[in-house]
Amino acid sequence: MIRACPACESGNHVAILTLAALPVSIHVPSASREEAIDVDRDTLELVKCRDCGLLFNQAFSAELVRYAPGYENALNHSATYRAFANRQATELVEDFGVRRRDVVEIGCGNGFFLDAVCAHGNNRGYGIDPSAPDSRNSTTAPDFGEYSIATGTWEDWGTPADAGLVCCRHVLEHVEAPSALLARLSAITGEAGLIYVEVPNARAMLLGGVPWDCIYEHVSYFDADSLQRLVTRCGLGIVRLDTRFREQYLCAVVGGGGPVPQSESDQQGGEVGLEHGFALSCREAMARWTRTLDDLRRGGLDVVLWGAGSKGMVFLNLVDGPGSVSRAVDLNPSKHGKFVPGTGHPIVSPESLCERPPDVVIVSNPAYVDEISRQLADLGLSPSLLRL
Ligand SMILES: [Zn+2]
Repeated sequence: MIRACPACESGNHVAILTLAALPVSIHVPSASREEAIDVDRDTLELVKCRDCGLLFNQAFSAELVRYAPGYENALNHSATYRAFANRQATELVEDFGVRRRDVVEIGCGNGFFLDAVCAHGNNRGYGIDPSAPDSRNSTTAPDFGEYSIATGTWEDWGTPADAGLVCCRHVLEHVEAPSALLARLSAITGEAGLIYVEVPNARAMLLGGVPWDCIYEHVSYFDADSLQRLVTRCGLGIVRLDTRFREQYLCAVVGGGGPVPQSESDQQGGEVGLEHGFALSCREAMARWTRTLDDLRRGGLDVVLWGAGSKGMVFLNLVDGPGSVSRAVDLNPSKHGKFVPGTGHPIVSPESLCERPPDVVIVSNPAYVDEISRQLADLGLSPSLLRL
């Protein structure tokens, strides 16, 4: 359990939302229904630091979470996501002149983003990820335009480098000591090099008023203010900070430090604003969806969920105890034939829907609704669509 704020170490916080018995590793699909039901669970206690404004899971226990081969969070099987990530990579190269430089990505997953940065800017890429299979490890240095991946965590990256760009996407929110991670990223970055940080946008989560983005693996839930305060506290500076992907992601380009503006360093971020009423709104959303799924089941309709990512899998865990949803569809072939941790819903391919056409498809992330509609039409299917 974390007792102090991961960003500022204050012990002064206020309770926001508690969710009991969440699977602790939602991104590790289970091999069988029995294994899925039997996964480790823990309580998520979302609190807000009254000093720096960071939202974090006070009940987080790092030893419960496993990052190893089998951890599956690749999103690049979706054309929508590929377009977004390619655009981000291209912009970083173009806007900041990252060409023929060494580029490091901490938590690079399957290397999709690193590949795009290297290919577009003729850069030389080095990725590290604890879930990378040993087969991806290479003993030879990559050429410009190429990349290599090592198995390990950010703490295993011991050698300071002279990287022109260090990328760290959807990692900062997973670690207990985000300041230490930022310091390591800064050490890897060369003179005038930049750090690209991408995290889920807590403001969008709070505005949405639904709990599907509360996943146990996330220690911290940053918004623009709390991320900026953390960066500043680490002696670094924000070069650019904006929201992307329908405001679901917070994207920051971070550079070397500068003088800390007095107003910023003194600013308090701990007022409870958007968080007020979040727990009530989440409980209402869960009750509403429980009723909806119950009605669909009573009506004899076959309901599937499209998107066995974090939103979809948390949704199933929070509202589909009775099993009103028959299966979860995902584009990632390595999830097919496996089961949703915590609930045991089977994860299937889109093509398999043709064998038993569903009556209703619940779209777990509205960012993909156009792509899913096209894929269903291509399969000759026309179910009703509901959006989370
Ligand atoms: Zn704090």
